[in-house]
Amino acid sequence: MATQDFRPEKKISIFYPPQRVLMGPGPSDTHSRILSAMARPTLGHLDPVFVDMMEELKSLMRYAFQTNNLLTFPVSGPGSVGMEMCFVNMIEPGDKVIVCRNGVFGGRMIENVERHGGVAVVVDDKWGEPVDPQKVEDTLKNNPDTKILAFVHAETSTGVQSDAKTLSDLAKRYNCLTIMDTVTSLGGTPIYIDGWGIDAVYSGSQKCLSCPPGLSPVSFSERVVNLVKNRKHKVQSWFMDINLLLGYWGSSRTYHHTAPTNSLVGLHEALLMLYEEGLEHSWARHQRNHKALKAGLQTMGIEYVVAEPYRLPQLNAVHIPVGVDDKEVRRRLLADFNLEIGAGLGDFAGKVWRFGLMGNSSRVENVIFCLNALETVLSNMGMKVERGAAEVAAYQTYAANTMTV
Ligand SMILES: *Cc1c(COP(=O)(O)O)cnc(C)c1O
Repeated sequence: MATQDFRPEKKISIFYPPQRVLMGPGPSDTHSRILSAMARPTLGHLDPVFVDMMEELKSLMRYAFQTNNLLTFPVSGPGSVGMEMCFVNMIEPGDKVIVCRNGVFGGRMIENVERHGGVAVVVDDKWGEPVDPQKVEDTLKNNPDTKILAFVHAETSTGVQSDAKTLSDLAKRYNCLTIMDTVTSLGGTPIYIDGWGIDAVYSGSQKCLSCPPGLSPVSFSERVVNLVKNRKHKVQSWFMDINLLLGYWGSSRTYHHTAPTNSLVGLHEALLMLYEEGLEHSWARHQRNHKALKAGLQTMGIEYVVAEPYRLPQLNAVHIPVGVDDKEVRRRLLADFNLEIGAGLGDFAGKVWRFGLMGNSSRVENVIFCLNALETVLSNMGMKVERGAAEVAAYQTYAANTMTV
């Protein structure tokens, strides 16, 4: 048989991505150490050398999550698969789940509950505000048959951090399990999975861990392991069934799916870098760069969406100044400066910019570069800004906030 004609519109040759500076809501800049780790030879996913690396990877993940949970491993899939993995394993038909929604990702949790046959009871808070523990407690009181409380620790759509410990304590008091989204918080702000008593947690490789997208670290308590082992119905998803995955990530090492070996080596490198830096140092670095960016943005009259105590240092959501063309600013930053910043999502589209300072993107030179680029673009577009003021303000903040960790 003759092969099908293939006449591409334009000549196809090797794809070379431009070198961008990624200061949006993820992915963040991947460190060259991680990129070169991923370019090392591909190993079979059952190769004994690879299996040893997997053990190290699991223990590095336990450090990052601050947990001793045995069932801690990276899911082959983006953060959304980690999210789905928690819900699909823990929910049986008719189970009641309280979901806290104060942004986009809480909304996706509701979708997950409903698609897996659960009943979602929604606690809504305004975008830009943290989850209100009082509302959660009232809802728990009114729904004594609730099985799970689910919430987003760091809402990337709004730049808000909620009080995970308080929410987890409430869940315990009312005999509920917890599912927590730490896609944006892991590595950027403090997380204590065991200290807070969280039952199920998922994250993502491409935010404060600075890996390419595509992997989702997860961790489950003994309580979840028992729950899943004793389910009445089979887990609806074959791929995400923890009982089956344990055959690969547990001690028996049998084939489940072909794990993305090079990506996992990249995650190993990223977590090793986090360990070398030290969690506390990484958290402090994210704070320090956030303070400098904030000082610089203030000189341009740019205001934060979130009240000070709840702001995420790694995701700076700000109001777009009145009269400024959102799309044109972002277009110029990308075209002229190779700088990517985040647009607003959902209710915040066209109203908010999101400056990510995640992982390897959270660096002094990025803060200064971004402030200068923004000043240039805004002033070229006719906004009154004092050229150079942002950099001076940022630098003063750095001088006043030397790293102490
Ligand atoms: C990015 C993100 C996700 C989804 O992760 P993907 O890797 O895009 O699937 C989930 N929750 C939060 C809070 C996020 O920031």
